[in-house]
Amino acid sequence: MAKETPYQVLVRDLPTHRQFEVSAVQVAEWLKGLPMRDALGAPDDDPEAGQGVAELDLYADGAHAFAAGTFRGELTVACSRCISPVKLVIDEKLRVTFMPRHEIAEDDDEDEPAADADADEGAEVAEDDLDVFPFDGERVDLEPLFREQFVLGVPYAPLCSETCKGLCPQCGIDRNTASCSCTPPIDPRLAALKGLKIPS
Ligand SMILES: [Zn+2]
Ligand SMILES: [Zn+2]
Repeated sequence: MAKETPYQVLVRDLPTHRQFEVSAVQVAEWLKGLPMRDALGAPDDDPEAGQGVAELDLYADGAHAFAAGTFRGELTVACSRCISPVKLVIDEKLRVTFMPRHEIAEDDDEDEPAADADADEGAEVAEDDLDVFPFDGERVDLEPLFREQFVLGVPYAPLCSETCKGLCPQCGIDRNTASCSCTPPIDPRLAALKGLKIPS
């Protein structure tokens, strides 16, 4: 028997409209291990880790279950240049299908990249592009869906600002708020060249 989570809904309770809240502690746990989260050095119960609220209509047709609605929240990760905290906003429309694992495996074979970049516009997403999650036929488990909102919400290289100057690679000072007199080390191969006089 799978562990109960606060994000499960029994199929016999469908259709229903539910609101789910994701706590900071939960967000911190889901993001643990991601370099841009761990770089903050925040405690496990960091109240600033993030939070989320899902408003979902849930329904089922027998073999499948469906969830549609919104997910709004935020999360905090480290700037990839200066490692100061960056708050990111999540505001997503969700349309998700829950289907038995064997059906998901079949569908993966015909997976094609989306033809356009409209994936954020819930209304315009073609049926093939819908998010799919496994379904055991008894309960809809929304945890992987919510977790995905946070994990996918972390960009490859988050920035506190497009113009972030980052940390000095030698002394570690934050170049946004202070300056140092370090000079970049010279590559030894270039140093050798420096002594050369180019004949004119
Ligand atoms: Zn920064
Ligand atoms: Zn420096």
